[in-house]
Amino acid sequence: MHDVVIVGAGPGGSAAAYYLAKQGLDVLLLDKAEFPRDKTCGDGLTPRALKVLEDMNLLAELQEVGWRINGVELHAAHGSIMKAPIPKENGYLDQLLIVPRLKLDDRIRQRALSAGVSFHSPVRVRGVEQEDGHVCIRGDHNGKPAKYEARLAIMAVGANMGMLSQLGILNYKPKTILAARGYYEGVSGLSDRVQAHFQDVPLPGYAWVFPISETAANIGIGFWKTDLPWRKQPPSARAALKLWIDQNAKIKAMLAGAEPLGPIRGYPLRVDFPTAPTYQGRILLVGEAAGLVSPLTGEGIDFALESSRLAGGYISEMFAAGDFSAARLAGYDKMLRDHFQRVFVFLTYLRRVYINPLLMSRAVKATNKFPELKDTLTNILMGHEDAASMITFSAFRKVVFGF
Ligand SMILES: Cc1cc2nc3c(=O)[nH]c(=O)nc-3n(C[C@H](O)[C@H](O)[C@H](O)COP(=O)(O)OP(=O)(O)OC[C@H]3O[C@@H](n4cnc5c(N)ncnc54)[C@H](O)[C@@H]3O)c2cc1C
Repeated sequence: MHDVVIVGAGPGGSAAAYYLAKQGLDVLLLDKAEFPRDKTCGDGLTPRALKVLEDMNLLAELQEVGWRINGVELHAAHGSIMKAPIPKENGYLDQLLIVPRLKLDDRIRQRALSAGVSFHSPVRVRGVEQEDGHVCIRGDHNGKPAKYEARLAIMAVGANMGMLSQLGILNYKPKTILAARGYYEGVSGLSDRVQAHFQDVPLPGYAWVFPISETAANIGIGFWKTDLPWRKQPPSARAALKLWIDQNAKIKAMLAGAEPLGPIRGYPLRVDFPTAPTYQGRILLVGEAAGLVSPLTGEGIDFALESSRLAGGYISEMFAAGDFSAARLAGYDKMLRDHFQRVFVFLTYLRRVYINPLLMSRAVKATNKFPELKDTLTNILMGHEDAASMITFSAFRKVVFGF
């Protein structure tokens, strides 16, 4: 009987395992993949993510393998460009790191193992039953049936919505962002800035160029599927990325002498935290399994790490108190809502600006006249907590009316 079994060894699952093992709990981590494994992603670590990784003593080694980013470029649909440094905010670093997931996820998992976590793979979990005072996790280990028991289970299965529906935790079909990415070598015009492009992309959405070296980049696209029949959208994110690369003059020039480093891969993103369930009995959710991905930018590694650190603290206290009552379990949801609900509702609201390319273009244009707006826009993109309070009437007036 373990204290906690965690299903999924992405950033969320491995970080939760690390924080629980540090408190002396017996933790078993399971994943259907053998590690190191890749995960389709833009590979961008925001200042929020770096803060948790620093707390886990992983920052220095990731800075060695990652590509440091000091600024952002926004290329609006109507051609104007904003270039801005990443502001230093409330104890967050003024940088991003781009670390391919093949390396990142394995480093975080290794960190958990060095804190005392046990790891089994490949284990595909097929069901979790709640029994009297414990949970029973069933799956296949190397094709053979496997069974694990624990006082609590954490589901950190990312966008695997089928698993959560099957457990009866998720009883609606969340709206997702469709996203795809490819790696390219020999890309020209890369710098220490990440690029976000709004020209020639299905809106609401954007395309990105995230450098991983002086000459190589992770290039991708993400967009919301619209219900409006008159808005024609590509059938898949992979098709949208191919179309953007073929049509957009800027990316065509950057890729003129470049080679793809493998196929383009697509994957959905869950961004429905404001309405998402976060627990059911003794099963708790962290990261993307709880819909914790920015509805504005699609960044979710940071929220996966943060929610797991919070879960680690909360669950350790439950064990210390020996209290697994319904009220205590419900307190987990309240803790996540207190921490994330406000910023998610705000980011969901702002996403609507994307639908209106004119407003986005105005915002980018306004930053050239009013440089103070650059920090506001960049902070919003970084998902900083206080971004909402930066949208003042004066900022709105500058964007909309230009004075
Ligand atoms: C194209 C794309 C680009 C993105 N770009 C960025 C970015 O630049 N920055 C950023 O912060 N976020 C980005 N994201 C979002 C980010 O990838 C996710 O939010 C993040 O990986 C969530 O972490 P997680 O630990 O919750 O889940 P995941 O990283 O998805 O990990 C889930 C794990 O669970 C395992 N698993 C699933 N089902 C089972 C099962 N039944 N049994 C056993 N194991 C199971 C999987 O194998 C996996 O290892 C992007 C996403 C996409 C699709």
